[in-house]
Amino acid sequence: MTRPPSATGLRFQLSSRAVSSRDLVQESLTKIDRLEARIGAFISRADPEDLLSTASHIDDLRAKGEEVHPLAGIPVAVKDNIAVRGMEMTCGSRILEGYRPPYDATAVGRLRDAGLIIVGKTNMDEFGFGSSTENSAFHTTRNPANLDMVPGGSSGGSAAAVAAGIVPWALGTDTGGSIRQPAALCGVAGFRPTFGSVSRYGLVSYASSMDQIGPLAKSVDDAAALLSVIAGPDPRDSTCFPHHLGQVDQIPGTLRVGVPQEYLSDACQPAVTKAIADVSEHLSALGWKVTPVSLPLTEYALSIYYIIASVEAASNLARYDGVKYGYSLPDTDTWEEMLIGTRTKGFGDEAKRRIILGTFASSAGYQDQYYARACNARELLSAEFRRAFENVDLLLTPISPTTAWRLGEKTTDPIQMYLSDVFSIPAALAGIPASVIPVGADAEGLPVGVQLCGPPGADSLVLAASRVVESLTVAE
Ligand code: GLN
Repeated sequence: MTRPPSATGLRFQLSSRAVSSRDLVQESLTKIDRLEARIGAFISRADPEDLLSTASHIDDLRAKGEEVHPLAGIPVAVKDNIAVRGMEMTCGSRILEGYRPPYDATAVGRLRDAGLIIVGKTNMDEFGFGSSTENSAFHTTRNPANLDMVPGGSSGGSAAAVAAGIVPWALGTDTGGSIRQPAALCGVAGFRPTFGSVSRYGLVSYASSMDQIGPLAKSVDDAAALLSVIAGPDPRDSTCFPHHLGQVDQIPGTLRVGVPQEYLSDACQPAVTKAIADVSEHLSALGWKVTPVSLPLTEYALSIYYIIASVEAASNLARYDGVKYGYSLPDTDTWEEMLIGTRTKGFGDEAKRRIILGTFASSAGYQDQYYARACNARELLSAEFRRAFENVDLLLTPISPTTAWRLGEKTTDPIQMYLSDVFSIPAALAGIPASVIPVGADAEGLPVGVQLCGPPGADSLVLAASRVVESLTVAE
């Protein structure tokens, strides 16, 4: 694998004026024109003239010697469930078609403050419900590594845009794996921060106890740099706490890395198991202490997640009533007809499945049996992680049991789709930081990634260790 071009490398070229922001934006636009018809990474794109004039403005400021953010002028893409003022935001759903938020998400405001240039909104599974981006109401996104394959999901558009080199980095969101799994399937770096590290203000809610915004990028350093731009407390999101992020720690001597045995199941493709074995071997050779650990509750994670996430989703989706936002069924006689008709036409099958599942699992009479039990089990699973982190600094796991699969292969069987999330979901339930590092490819040339998780707040350590893993494998 050759080391990919780095966004943070561009900052030096920009400051020495070896490259201009206009060049970078022009390059993104040229690549979109050349590749987008095949890849389908975007739902909407910013006006090219506006982008070029913003870039020229930043170039002028630099030329005049005015102080600009070191990353100013670098293009970025944003997943379509994060509000960008004035740009259509659909969340991959017909029900929001035509909705233009009048405000920026906090993370987007911070991108703008740093002078990053938002080239477009990326495709996604409707509201984040899915693992392949095939649940977008608009079109399919293809994996740049092989156009017959899915890019993963739900941030498949962001992962594909980065993997195809259209943008050096992008924002995604991760409720149960939606940054990490598409990063792995497309062969880019992805990072899910500790829950509460990045403000959710302006992120359309899927499951509010797990939703997090985070970076997808060509390299771990880039992911860390983008994270440092967006992270930090925000009075508009009370779950967002002060916590210093984005600076990649120096590794404190040797680290203890646990490999949970429950993650190395028969469901894993050989290339995935081999990646874990290879990384373990390389880290041991560096003097790190790599040991097997056991997380027996892992087998319950999928059930816990699909109950809690669906209950929260059903509640969050109640706001789409044909009145406040987006699509509204025309020519109806009564309010009830309009509401039912709007939701019937506006939501896709997977959204309806989650609404039905979540409403059932939280309804009177079933709540104790399903939702309350799932919440208790989630607490036990989090405690299991806490105990594991008493003995190891980090956990090394697969992130997806398989490499990218064929388009259409799992669309008729939702359970198969859910099963593909088995390794990404536990970290999301526990709210811990988790990084995905591309480490190579399988026999068909499809990317393979591995996951590193750390205790809550250890984001910088996870990123530092991820950089070590990246350098080991890139050098292979
Ligand atoms: N695939 C998982 C789901 O469908 C996770 C998606 C996400 O993180 N948004 O819920």
